[in-house]
Parts: sequence; structure tokens; C-alpha cells
Amino acid sequence: MSPAGPMVLTPSGVPLTSATLTIDLGAIVENWRLLKRQGRRGIECAAVVKADAYGLGAGEVASALYLAGCRHFFVALLEEGRRLRSRVPADATIFVLHGVMPGTEQEFAVHRLTPVLNSLEQIACWRALAQRLGQPLPAALQVDTGMARVGLSPADAQELDEAALAGCRPVLLMSHLVAAEEPGNPINLVQLERFKALRNRLPAMPASLANSSGVFLGHDWHFDLLRPGAALYGVSPTVGQANPLRPALRLQVPLIQWRDVNVGDGVGYNHTWIAKRPTRVGTLSVGYADGYLRSFSNRAWLTFRGHQVPLIGRVSMDTITVDLSELPLDALQPGAAFDLIHAGHDINALALEAGTNAYEILTSLGSRYRRQYIDT
Ligand SMILES: *Cc1c(COP(=O)(O)O)cnc(C)c1O
Repeated sequence: MSPAGPMVLTPSGVPLTSATLTIDLGAIVENWRLLKRQGRRGIECAAVVKADAYGLGAGEVASALYLAGCRHFFVALLEEGRRLRSRVPADATIFVLHGVMPGTEQEFAVHRLTPVLNSLEQIACWRALAQRLGQPLPAALQVDTGMARVGLSPADAQELDEAALAGCRPVLLMSHLVAAEEPGNPINLVQLERFKALRNRLPAMPASLANSSGVFLGHDWHFDLLRPGAALYGVSPTVGQANPLRPALRLQVPLIQWRDVNVGDGVGYNHTWIAKRPTRVGTLSVGYADGYLRSFSNRAWLTFRGHQVPLIGRVSMDTITVDLSELPLDALQPGAAFDLIHAGHDINALALEAGTNAYEILTSLGSRYRRQYIDT
């Protein structure tokens, strides 16, 4: 299934020539199966692969999940949908979350993309195309139950009737949760009740409310289609609870060179780190231009053959500096591979160090990494 074949991780000792991101499609498929198993028997589980599958490669991820049985995919933009259409067979439904912008409706029909209609204007636009083509066109309807972001307002949803939908073939009613990663937050129940009330008022159709975290709120939030994104890629779904998902990423970067500095010497831009003891400083080939966030400066740590290595000084555009004082000298050859992200120090741990969420860590992953796909 994986284009890269079996495990091809760089064994320790073999020089690494460029920062390398290894994406485990087997872990992503296993996470999808685990999410689907949270639902009642027979429930469908989609995959949200917007923003290039959160940076991991929408084509590769969707192809692997299609083989595992996934038939529903969500992207945000028309352009993402067009690209994905060429990577999955015709029986895969591709929903485009932002819906139809006026003037783009024809392209949705040509590429067999299913818009998520978010306003009365978008519905009218899609209805007009259906009438021009003389055939009913499938669409999802999104209602706003509390996010105040996209979707029909409750007042607009009230106006919807058979006439407003004439020519549209509604295949999914959906809404998005505000704070599903906090099971105790009362907004979850408020949104569930609003969603059910809207659903009762509209023509019967399959429904979907749960994103990754929503899957873990329980069956009441599931309806007919689960809609996880982040959890597929290993993001922990529930605040304060053990993460049931498998990490899917490894990021290894090579050592460029090292030097010894003396007590009182500063390291990196603005000397935000000053040596308190003689220190061996290593420079690695990764920086904020690769999405290794500047907010990691003086806060993150890396791993080298089981040793924890602290990041010292500011993150630069193309380099970071680390304290190698505890490492054996003979290991410090140019090309020595350091792990920035791996199973023992995953995107959730990194998010804590950077003071952000794991979604941002993922979607920031840079385009300069050599990417390899494995299937374990
Ligand atoms: C991004 C998105 C999802 C997936 O959310 P995760 O938290 O990543 O699981 C689901 N539904 C909508 C409408 C989204 O925008």
C-alpha cells in the first residue's frame, strides 16, 4: 500500500543528508479504524483531509484510507477538492467545506465535488445550476449551532423548505462543535440539542456532528457520519485524558557542525542563551522556515539515540542550536540524525512546549523536508 515500501528509516550511524519527515500511513489507517469503532455498528467514518491532510499529504492519506474502506472525504477549498478528485476513485464522495462561491458552481459539477452549502445564497446558487443542468445535484447543508463561523444561522435554517431546496439533493446535514475536546463543557449538550431541533424541522437526510474530539463524547453526538481530521494524524482528542491514537510522524534532522563555547559566551540571535559552563553547541538543519516554530526557542528538546538534547537559543530560519555536551564525541559526525518528532516525543508534546495546539504543529510542517511514506 505504501509507495515507499517497508521500513526505510535511517539507521543510526548512517549520515542523513536532509531533514526527513516520515509519515506512517499504517498508523493513520489504524487510527481511522479505531475512530470508526467508537461508533455504533454500521456507522460511516469520513476523513477530513483539508490543508493537504493537515500537512501530511492529502493524496497519500486519502488513497490509504480509501483502501481501508473510507468513502467520504472533506476538504476546505475547491482547489483541494479538484486535486483530491484525481487521487481517489469515483465512488468516493468529496465534500468541500467552504461551499460554492458564486461563479465556481460549474467546476463543482465538472469535478464531481459535493459542496457544503453554508448560506441561503449558496443554496440558491447550487439550485440555479441544478435547474440549468436539469438534474438534481447532491449537496451537504451546514447549520450553525454555536460556532458563529460558517453554516446557516438558525433563522435562515427556519426559512428552508422543499421549495428552497428544489433541485438540490441534500445528502448530509452537518454542524461543527465548538469545544468537543472538553467533555465537561456544557456547550456540547447545547449544540447537540440545537442540532436535533434543526434536524427535525428539515427534510430527512443523514446527519453528522462529530469532529475528532466529538467522536469521544459518545453515541449521542455521532448520528450517521463521523468527521475526524486531527485524530487520524495522532492529535490527542480529549484534554487531560490518555491519547488512544497512534503517532503517525517522525521528523529527523541532520547535524551540520558543532563547536565548543566558553562560560559567558552567547549563542544565536540576540544571545538569548548564555553558557553557564563550557558547552558543546551543535547546529542542525531545520528552522522556522520549515515550520519548526520560533516559539520553541530555549524551550523544546530533541532526542539523539535515546539521549534528551535541549534546544538552546533562538530558532533561526534554517537552523537551530542544541546542547551536545552530554553526547559521546564520536557520535557527532556531520549528518548525525536527531529526532525532533517521534513516538516518544510527539506532536502533542511539542504543542505544549510551543504553547500552541498540535493542529498548528502539524499544519506548519514545512515543504523543504524530504518526505517518505511508510506502512507499519
Ligand atoms: C476541520 C473540520 C473537521 C475536523 O476537525 P478535527 O478537530 O480535526 O477532527 C470537521 N468538521 C469541520 C466542519 C471542520 O472544519
